[in-house]
Amino acid sequence: MADAHIALAFLHYALSMMNLAPSTMKEDSRTLVEERRGLTMRVALVTGANRGIGFEVARQLGERGNRVVLGCRDLERGRLATEKLASMKIEIDPAQLDVTNQEHVDQLTKRIQSDFGRLDILVNNAGIMIDHSKASATDLDLVRSTLETNLLGPWRLCKAFIPLMERNHYGRIVNVSSGMGSFPGGEARSSGYRSPAYGLSKASLNVLTLMLASELRGTGILVNAACPGHTRTDMGGPNAPRSVEEGADTAVWLATLSDDGPTGGVFLDRKRMDW
Ligand code: NAP
Repeated sequence: MADAHIALAFLHYALSMMNLAPSTMKEDSRTLVEERRGLTMRVALVTGANRGIGFEVARQLGERGNRVVLGCRDLERGRLATEKLASMKIEIDPAQLDVTNQEHVDQLTKRIQSDFGRLDILVNNAGIMIDHSKASATDLDLVRSTLETNLLGPWRLCKAFIPLMERNHYGRIVNVSSGMGSFPGGEARSSGYRSPAYGLSKASLNVLTLMLASELRGTGILVNAACPGHTRTDMGGPNAPRSVEEGADTAVWLATLSDDGPTGGVFLDRKRMDW
């Protein structure tokens, strides 16, 4: 029965390509065939995508035929990134987005709603690591700024876009976390904590991921966190062992999960982590 359905859909698709089928039939059969081949175009937003891991996530999602909005806090840097992607034959829409700026988020939500009517994939990638001292000596202004970008930024974007995802019964939210936000067994690391504000922000982001996933179970929206591993970017430094392709891989995998994929997990190398 399923085979007959697929064969019929292919027949309609072939007819539609020859302009022989009625238009509604053309649309239905094209959608069905494209879905069967996994070719449905998704609309994706990647934050902090003008460089580093975010740029690579945007590139890979674009390469797979998704419509990608490239979030950048500086439009000029976003334009340069867009040009670089265009030279690779990947078309991307840049959008000004400082994740700490509620007005930017509100404007972008309106724009995505009016341009596309949906957002299928949200990759909360933008992040900073600006503290480098012991927790007992950390400047609390650095803690505040870190939480504002790494925790409240993703939270703000989730709040903005979840209603749109709920309306479409589909969503993939990927929060880019870090192994530095992982405290398995609650044991203190003997080496200490190098960037406590950063670690705390990523641990909190993991908790937010769990909370949203549990709230949204059964809605078609999957919420997970991806740890890139130590990656060669401006943040990771030139001697990090991983390439950006490797660093982006788990986030892209989570962004393109099928409907029966996991939710509420923190993943490294596509494997659930005990964090
Ligand atoms: P990166 O090279 O420093 O790039 C960070 C990106 O985030 C830049 O595009 C930056 O924009 C953007 N950004 C920072 N604050 C922002 C804000 N308020 N609003 C919007 N964009 C903002 O870092 P990366 O290595 O690619 O890191 C990407 C993500 O992976 C981060 O969440 C990071 O914590 C995580 N991570 C990285 C590593 C690693 O080894 N690299 C390891 C674990 C986790 P500007 O260009 O305007 O500054």
